[in-house]
Amino acid sequence: MQKVKLPISVDSVRAANNRLELVASLDKSLLSRLGESTNSIHSDIDTAFSFDVDQQKLRIFKGKASVAVELTCQRCNEPMTYQCEAEFTYCPVLNKEQENNLPDVYEPIYYDENGEVNLHQIVEDELLLTLPQIAKHAIAECKYGNYESSFGEIEEEQERPNPFDALAKLKLK
Ligand SMILES: [Zn+2]
Repeated sequence: MQKVKLPISVDSVRAANNRLELVASLDKSLLSRLGESTNSIHSDIDTAFSFDVDQQKLRIFKGKASVAVELTCQRCNEPMTYQCEAEFTYCPVLNKEQENNLPDVYEPIYYDENGEVNLHQIVEDELLLTLPQIAKHAIAECKYGNYESSFGEIEEEQERPNPFDALAKLKLK
């Protein structure tokens, strides 16, 4: 069975009132920023959204997105698979006042003049946030895992600027 495609955007008010549940896939070729931040995206993205009205009558939605990507290990320079798992809860807002009145548990998101929120953008933003700042294999799986400590020291040594370099350059002039 073919999976439902995630719509680009939905009317967040109507979706909340209808308690809309979405399980859908998002074509990986549509996520250019995630594509640029990784070596490759392994598959289309699995997503799930559930829209709801909470006890305070706030319209909210919860979502999940997951996909495996390939990154380059910064220790051994070999490719590594990284599983992105994002979970989020948003409360669509129209203006700053609504945003300021939100309970802390909700992340505000602005909806447009048609009441719509952009689901593709949310999924991509959330997946980008799950990427590690410095990708590294687990020590046991890394080619250079055993050299971790000595490697770190050498790199630090090289990065430290040598004050005499600057002097030498001045003298050459
Ligand atoms: Zn590695």
